[in-house]
Amino acid sequence: MSAAARTAAIQLIARKSPVAVDTKITNVPQLFGANVFGLEQMRTRLSESAYKALRSCMEHSQALDGALADQVANAMKEWAVERGATHFTHWFQPMTGSTAEKHDSFASLEGGKLIMEFSGKALIKGEPDASSFPSGGLRATFEARGYTAWDPTSPAFLRETTNGSTLCIPTAFCSWTGEALDEKTPLLRSTEALNREAVRLLRLLGDDKVHYVYPTLGCEQEYFLVDRDLYFLRPDLIATGRTLFGAKPPKGQELEDHYFGSIAPRVLAFMQEVELELWKLGVPVKTRHNEVAPSQYELAPIFERTTVAVDHNMLCMEVLKQVAQKHGFQCLLHEKPYAGINGSGKHNNWSMATDSGDNLLEPGKSPEQNMRFMVMLAAVMRAVDTHADLLRTTIAHAGNDHRLGANEAPPAILSIYLGEQLTDVVDALIAGTRAGSDKKRDTMRLGVSVLPPLPRDATDRNRTSPFAFTGNKFEFRAVGSSQACGKPNSVLNTIVADSLSYIASEIERTKGGKGLEAAVNDVVVELFKKHQRILFNGNGYSAEWHAEAAKRGLPNFRNAVDAIANFAAKKNLELFERFAVLSSKEVESRMSIMFEAYCKAIAIEGQSALSIGRTMILPAAQRSQLTVAQSVGAAKAAGIDVKVQEKRLRDFSARIEAFVLAIDDLNAQFDHAEHHSGSVGEHAKTYRDKVVPAMVKLRELADGLETMVDDAEWPLPKYREILFLQ
Ligand code: ADP
Ligand code: MG
Repeated sequence: MSAAARTAAIQLIARKSPVAVDTKITNVPQLFGANVFGLEQMRTRLSESAYKALRSCMEHSQALDGALADQVANAMKEWAVERGATHFTHWFQPMTGSTAEKHDSFASLEGGKLIMEFSGKALIKGEPDASSFPSGGLRATFEARGYTAWDPTSPAFLRETTNGSTLCIPTAFCSWTGEALDEKTPLLRSTEALNREAVRLLRLLGDDKVHYVYPTLGCEQEYFLVDRDLYFLRPDLIATGRTLFGAKPPKGQELEDHYFGSIAPRVLAFMQEVELELWKLGVPVKTRHNEVAPSQYELAPIFERTTVAVDHNMLCMEVLKQVAQKHGFQCLLHEKPYAGINGSGKHNNWSMATDSGDNLLEPGKSPEQNMRFMVMLAAVMRAVDTHADLLRTTIAHAGNDHRLGANEAPPAILSIYLGEQLTDVVDALIAGTRAGSDKKRDTMRLGVSVLPPLPRDATDRNRTSPFAFTGNKFEFRAVGSSQACGKPNSVLNTIVADSLSYIASEIERTKGGKGLEAAVNDVVVELFKKHQRILFNGNGYSAEWHAEAAKRGLPNFRNAVDAIANFAAKKNLELFERFAVLSSKEVESRMSIMFEAYCKAIAIEGQSALSIGRTMILPAAQRSQLTVAQSVGAAKAAGIDVKVQEKRLRDFSARIEAFVLAIDDLNAQFDHAEHHSGSVGEHAKTYRDKVVPAMVKLRELADGLETMVDDAEWPLPKYREILFLQ
């Protein structure tokens, strides 16, 4: 590889035009869910009793019995085969952060004849060889098998690829001893916990219509696109998903001309095909736009039941990556592909809905609704303040370390933004006065007063807050773009369930003496007082906030390693056990998987940086040095005064010397980390404290060289190219 490859790639890009899809989108409602075995298919293909039984299982997250499973499996297979499917797979989310699938065909031999068959047994349970998935020590190799179990709350779907289709069945993944080996199982368990505690509390508040409460999720997905011809010339992007080198381009994002700008034709064609594919899969995608950084974009769906939305976000990420290739792009989901330019997040919009059709975070119009809303608000405040450490852990990984607190994404300190009006209401309740302009009139009390109208204005939203109330939902903004959102949502559900349970117990304890209204009012006010410190409406990027947060005693885990280390704190083990979301063994195994993932990510980055430094950057710099030295030598021999050039050559050579030293240092630090003995947590610390700084130093020097080395010698596509040529 040399600069010639760069030039060739650029010439190719100049000739590219938008890629057309095979069939134009004409009827979206008809298209929507065409590849999903949803309620419509179930109703038409199953007997009425089977359909009813299945729906009941789906609604109550119960397992199907054998006979019913056979019927469902057969109907599913017929539907899939009619659409060209030959194979099925249990589709699951191991603790790798991505999805896994192992395909089996429907083929079965009957008297020497091949028939297409799918049994209830195969639908309900699969046995992938699980020994190669991370288990954090839960599975000894001799009992390596795990099993996957159908999650009927998330419908089966067909993935169409160039040469056929595959029926995918969303499943949970467990060990034979019953421990969760995936992100889905704790999510399902936390959903149950939230349901239990929310219904219990709503009953106490006098609601007898609600039978079921479930969390909702809408995740806005940010991503970058880079042309594949340039991507292939960047071994760092290929191996790590981010650039380990690259000098600042002459133009970055300072002109602010990309955000909401008109979408480039090749990119728009790509987005349209992504939407087409996702609509077919029943993912309700809604929004597309350019993001802040050059070549950065966003896709957002309409929110859904969380267990489904989490699967749908996994599908979004897969479809983005696959469709990008067809359009000559690589889709980068890494949190920070480029230094000095905004990174990518995944805004996790979270709320709770009831089977009677209410959003529990919708501010009410009547005193009763108003009381319910304030109770839910108090629950979330208590949850985030009490378990800020835990929430921080769910977003802790190597990629997100570049983003959190980097003046472009929420800080690593968790706080809640409520907006001015709602904060006024909270203050008024604490002070026992009336909110807003009516301060001097009678006091505000829950169950009696009506909330002053809260404006739902998109313009004054505070973008610097990690956890913001946006009208009728909370937006957890610190989640990383590459992350599976199972983990953050499991924790959100659990910590809120914990608060709901606390509030319910308090009301049960005190309502006999003082009556329901006073009991509710008192516990809400008590929680507002106690957890007021978590509220912050100001600029989360400012240095003052860091000082203020420290004064308030809010935890600040500056990096992933510190945050992960706290996951198995006693308080957290007890919490997960109490709500049957994760056993202590499961928590500890998850913690070691997070540490391992961190170590592996940094190890791969370290190796890539070393190899690119040694075999691409150094030789290019040396070739350039040779040319300069020869030129200076020739000029000198001809009797010309080249003092300035000589000085420049000396400076250049000194930089190369420093670069070689930095390579040696990174190598030494890397060796040290590799051979470190001790716990996996200690290992992660060594990577963080030794390897990461050595990589940063190497990059600094490399980026300096990039600005001096002959452009015709530089092998890596430059930022000005990868970010702007599409
Ligand atoms: P933004 O200004 O942040 O883009 P939007 O109103 O477009 O805000 O919403 C962002 C996301 O929030 C969307 O995916 C939307 O469907 C989701 N959302 C809206 N209401 C809820 C809710 N009740 N629960 C969960 N997510 C929701
Ligand atoms: Mg948003």
